[in-house]
Amino acid sequence: MNKVQPIAGAQGSPAQTGPTLLDERVAALRSALGERSVVLVGMMGSGKSAIGQRLASRLRVPFRDADAEIVAAAAGMSIPEIFAKYGEDYFRNGERRVIFRLLNSGPIVLATGGGAFMDPRTRERIAERGVSVWFDAEHELLLRRVRRKNDRPLLQTHDPSATLRKLMEERSPTYALADIRVESRDAPQETMVEETLKALADGLPSIDAERRDRRNREALESMVNPSLGLDHHFRASAQTETVHVALGGRSYDIVIGSGLLDSIGERLAKIAPGAACAIVTDRNVAKLYLEKVTQNLEDQGIRSTAIVVEPGEASKCMPVFAQLCDNLLAAKIERRDIVLALGGGVVGDLAGFVASSVRRGARFIQVPTTLLAQVDSSVGGKTGVNSSLGKNLIGAFYQPSLVLADVETLKTLPPREFRAGYAEVVKYGLIGDRRFFEWLEADADAIFHSKAEQICAIAVSCCRKAGIVARDETEQGERALLNLGHTFGHAFERIVKYDGARLVHGEGVAIGMACAARFSAKLGFLPHEEAERVARHLASVGLPTCIRDIAGWSGDGDEILSAMYQDKKVEQGALTFILLRAVGEAFIAKSVAAEDVRAFLQDELASE
Ligand code: ADP
Ligand code: ZN
Repeated sequence: MNKVQPIAGAQGSPAQTGPTLLDERVAALRSALGERSVVLVGMMGSGKSAIGQRLASRLRVPFRDADAEIVAAAAGMSIPEIFAKYGEDYFRNGERRVIFRLLNSGPIVLATGGGAFMDPRTRERIAERGVSVWFDAEHELLLRRVRRKNDRPLLQTHDPSATLRKLMEERSPTYALADIRVESRDAPQETMVEETLKALADGLPSIDAERRDRRNREALESMVNPSLGLDHHFRASAQTETVHVALGGRSYDIVIGSGLLDSIGERLAKIAPGAACAIVTDRNVAKLYLEKVTQNLEDQGIRSTAIVVEPGEASKCMPVFAQLCDNLLAAKIERRDIVLALGGGVVGDLAGFVASSVRRGARFIQVPTTLLAQVDSSVGGKTGVNSSLGKNLIGAFYQPSLVLADVETLKTLPPREFRAGYAEVVKYGLIGDRRFFEWLEADADAIFHSKAEQICAIAVSCCRKAGIVARDETEQGERALLNLGHTFGHAFERIVKYDGARLVHGEGVAIGMACAARFSAKLGFLPHEEAERVARHLASVGLPTCIRDIAGWSGDGDEILSAMYQDKKVEQGALTFILLRAVGEAFIAKSVAAEDVRAFLQDELASE
C-alpha cells in the first residue's frame, strides 16, 4: 500500500492548489501504465467521477463511468430503478459484466460504483488489467456530499449517517486491497488530480515489482508441484455465471462455468429429488463424458440410463426420434423424470423434442457440449427434427428446466466446431451490442483460449438471446433478429446438401452475416467500412466470409435465390432479411425485392 499524505498547507486553504506534475512525468507514467487502465474505487461521493474525468484528460486516455454504462445498458433505467425492479444481485451481475467489458479495451480511467470492488472476480479482473486507486474519504465528507443527491439506493434508510458508517466499515478492508490509496478531501479537484498522478507515478514501480515477484513465485510453485499449475489458479477463483431466462412459469437458469459436470448430480437432485434420468448423447460425446456424468449421478443416488445415437445431423430424424421415445418408455421414464441432453445442437434438438413428447412432456435438462449449443441452440426452447422436405420442420417449443454449460467440455471440441460456434457469438454483437462486438474484436484470441473469457462470452450471448426470447418466445417479431446471416446461410447449406465436410452451420452463418452486412451497405443502410469491419473480424478468427470460400462451390445467384425461397421463413413469396444499420443495430427488412437480391448475389459471385 502506497500512502499519499495530503500536501502540506493545502488543507484549510482550499483555494490554493498543490504543485502540478511535470508533463514529462505524466508522459512517463502513461507509458509505464502501458495497456493497463486506472480503476478508481471507493465509497459513493468520494470523487471518482469528478476526479476521474480530469485524471483521464491529464493522462490523455478516455474516461468511462461504470454506473453510467450500466444505466445506458439498461435502456436508461436509473440505478435506483434497477435496484427496485430487479434487486441488488441483478445489478451486481450487470455491473460485473460491464466492468469486464470496459477493462477489455485499455488504457482508460474507469470510475466504478461503490460496491463493485467488493466482488472478488471484479477485483481479480481489475488486478489483471489495471491499477486500482482507492479514494479514501472521511465519513463526514461523504455524508455531506451524498446528502445532496437521492440516487444512492443503499442510503435510502431512516438514518443515512449510520447506514453510511456501517457500509464504510464493511467495505474499507476490501478497498484497502487496492494498489494505491489516495486521501480524498475537500481540496480543489486539480489538487486531487495531481495527488493521484503523483501517487501513481511513485507507486507504480513497486506495484510492478511486487506483481513480478508474485508471478515468479507462482511459476516456481507450479514447477515444484505440477498439480498446482494454471488450473489450480483458475479453480481458486472458480467463476460461474447464471443467466435467468424469464418465461413466467417456464423460467429457468442457464449456468455457465468450468467443471460443472462435477456437480451435475447435486444440481439434479435439488431440482428433481428422487427422479430418474435418461441421458441422450452421441457416440463421440459418450466416449468423452458419459462415464463422468453417469458416475456423478450415481454418487448422488440418481438412477440413469444412457441412449447413444450416431453423431451428426442424420440422427435428427423421425426414425431416431421414434426409437428414442420407445427407449425412454422401456426405461420407465415418467413425467417427473429427467431427459438430459448431453452433446451438441443435434442431441439437444432431438432429446428436447423427445422430452416434449414422451408422456406428453418429461422434465428436460440441457448439458450442451459445443460452443454453438452453449450460446445458441440450448437457449430458447426450439426443439425438433428434420423432415425429408426440409430442416427443422417438425418440432415443438419446449423449455428446459436447467441448462448447464461447462466450458471444460470445449477443450475437446474440434477447432473448426469451436469457430463455427463463435460465429453465433459474433451475431449477438452485431444484432444489438456494439460494445460486445468491440470486445470480441479486441479479445477474440482470449475467447478461443481462456476459460474466463469463454464464460464471459457465453454468458453475454445467452443473456442477449434470453432477453429476446423472453420478449418474443414464439418468433412473432423481434426473435427474427436472431436469424441474422441465416437467410443466406441456410441457402448455402441447402445447396451443399448439408454436407458438413463442405460447410458447417456456423460457417454458413459467418458467410451469411458478411453477406448481410455487404447487402445492407449496397442498399445504403450501412457504411461500407462497417461491412468490411464485420467480414474482417470473422476472417481474423479463420471463418469464411465469401460464397467462394465454400469448398467446391459452383452454384450461381439464381440457385441461391431459389434455395432462399424454399426456406420456411419465407412468407407469401416475400423475402425477409435481417439487415444492419450499424454494428450493434440490426433490423427486420420485410419484402426485399428479389431483383435487389439477385443483383447483389451477382456482384458477390463476380468479385474475387
Ligand atoms: P452443433 O452444436 O454444432 O449443432 P453437433 O451436435 O452436430 O453440433 O456436434 C458437432 C460434432 O461435435 C459432433 O460430431 C459431436 O459428436 C461432436 N462434439 C460435441 N461436443 C463435443 C465435445 N465437447 N468434444 C468433442 N466433440 C464434440
Ligand atoms: Zn444458427
